[in-house]
Amino acid sequence: MMIVIMKRGASVSEIGCVIREIETGGFKARPSHGARQTVIGVLGAKQTAPLEHISELPGVEKITPISTSFKLVNREFQPEATVIRVNGTSVGGEEIVVMAGPCSVESREIQIATARAVRDAGARVMRGGAFKPRTSPYSFQGLGQEGLEILREAKRETGLAIVTEVMSPELVPLVCEYADILQVGARNMQNYTLLEAVGRARKPVLLKRGMMSTVEELLLSAEYVFSNGNHQVILCERGIRTFERATRNTLDISAVPVIKQSSHLPVIVDPSHATGIRDYIPAVAKAAVAAGADGLIIEVHPAPEKALCDGEQSLFLEGFTKLMDELRPIAAAVGRRIAPARHPGGAPSG
Ligand code: PEP
Ligand code: MN
Repeated sequence: MMIVIMKRGASVSEIGCVIREIETGGFKARPSHGARQTVIGVLGAKQTAPLEHISELPGVEKITPISTSFKLVNREFQPEATVIRVNGTSVGGEEIVVMAGPCSVESREIQIATARAVRDAGARVMRGGAFKPRTSPYSFQGLGQEGLEILREAKRETGLAIVTEVMSPELVPLVCEYADILQVGARNMQNYTLLEAVGRARKPVLLKRGMMSTVEELLLSAEYVFSNGNHQVILCERGIRTFERATRNTLDISAVPVIKQSSHLPVIVDPSHATGIRDYIPAVAKAAVAAGADGLIIEVHPAPEKALCDGEQSLFLEGFTKLMDELRPIAAAVGRRIAPARHPGGAPSG
């Protein structure tokens, strides 16, 4: 793929002319209108016509090849960070957005109690799986559509946005009716028909890194979503499988700066699945904020010992509130902020 970098101030008709020229050559043109200048991606499986003459067209600064396998999600294609609006909050901007809640939606009471507590602690998005990808077919598989209804009710009660997993292409329309963010789980990171289906959706996608996937493979999966028309992708580092057995997975903390440098997409960290053990979550969450993550997704449950899924890696409500208080100064130290806590019965502080 090549990118055509337009001059600053290139006119709409000059840009249109370049796009027509690209398409006449049998390629697809994907313009990205940045704050400084427009960059046009030239996509095509094979070279169908030479493109050198495009550099001679009015308004064109230069054409350069993108040498990496991922293109549209590459920072060379779009130098500005992608900022994704979700329910009045921005992911990828100055704020570090925290998403929290139980692994799976279990009941109305648990979901609403958790959502209230995490909102009051400063979370912006509530999590909860209605469709659960379980390693064993005998484990709790989630409440399905009833779980989605509960999420909707908890959103109505708390105002929090909803992130919830979609496991198959057929379920994308249904999950879209309820979710603010469509979660694609680690086990589905390379489910290409699912990536295409969420790519056709008009909802932000939280794409979790597969436990055996490289950062490049993660970015190529994001490229599938992009190339199907959905440019709202949030990446998630959730730990990869290594020889280490002391934790469920091994958090690849360097994935955060690696992704930030190579892509314009926001990246969040999941310290719950990365460690699998409650006691380690605070330290790992702090490391993620210090490393430049744009957000966190954390499992929280009012009674983790009774949770139907991932209780051993779920924080208690109080533990989550304490962690949020400890994260704020770390966020400030790296030039970011986390939403203030609301104190019981009062308005938000700060
Ligand atoms: C989850 O978020 O509960 C989950 C199943 O995560 P992952 O896909 O990262 O294992
Ligand atoms: Mn889980």
